Amino acid sequence: MVMTYRELLKAKAAELAEQGVENSGFDCGELLGKALMLDCRSAEFRLRLDDSADKAVSAAFEELCKRGAQGEPLQYIIGEWEFCGLPFKVGRGVLIPRQDTETLVELAVNKYKNTDSITLIDLCTGSGCIAIALEKQLDCHRVIGVEHSQEAAEFFSENVKLNCSSAELITADVLDDSTPDRLPDADLIVCNPPYLTADDMAALQREVSHEPAKALYGGEDGLDFYRGVTRLWKNKLKEGGTLIYEIGAGQEDEVMGILIQHGFTQVRCRRDAAGINRCVLGIYDP
Ligand code: GLN
Repeated sequence: MVMTYRELLKAKAAELAEQGVENSGFDCGELLGKALMLDCRSAEFRLRLDDSADKAVSAAFEELCKRGAQGEPLQYIIGEWEFCGLPFKVGRGVLIPRQDTETLVELAVNKYKNTDSITLIDLCTGSGCIAIALEKQLDCHRVIGVEHSQEAAEFFSENVKLNCSSAELITADVLDDSTPDRLPDADLIVCNPPYLTADDMAALQREVSHEPAKALYGGEDGLDFYRGVTRLWKNKLKEGGTLIYEIGAGQEDEVMGILIQHGFTQVRCRRDAAGINRCVLGIYDP
């Protein structure tokens, strides 16, 4: 007997749950949407659920579910994910945009929404999600992302096209002494660096372990990038310019301390929707 899509969905969700996939119901909905080439939140998708499942679609769905069962993140399987209401291409080799990171975008937008023609630098830009989301919400003269990984840089370029963005890319190591010389002075520098500790890396969720370690690991204590970036990039800020970091849970005191040591003022942190201190910012006015 041929199953309906609804029955297929239910069966696969149960199977994936058994194989250790959290939120398997949600994931299977997304994957069936991809197999049907429909947005799983659309009315059209819901209308199709009681149709008898087509053989080719079932096979495609089966294939996608197999990847999910092996622990590949849903976002990589789908190949595209939303951040701040915009679509971003993602896949192996680039960090998946997190909802937590929207906190950094909101903070920057609140601070600069009434300022004309800013120059913005996004360090460790990855997919470009922060740079492009800010470009859409602020009046930007230039937006420049800096990314070391060639693989991630390719996603950045695809996302610039996808979002009709003018963000520029510099492929370079943000911790290399000579990289700042390649960029103009900025009003705002934002950075979501790798910040997981050695202990965090040893205890990664199965899905996260598919993401590039280089985008996650911030050195033994997770703070290497905060120390290095603050030292190297503070002089790229125009007078009164702002540096905003995303941080990991519990890193606020140390990261605020680093900013203060380097002469930043009005140093403070900001919570995310879950109540965790997620960003640290400071003003550089030497
Ligand atoms: N927020 C990511 C995680 O918890 C870490 C990203 C990062 O290191 N910037 O997996």
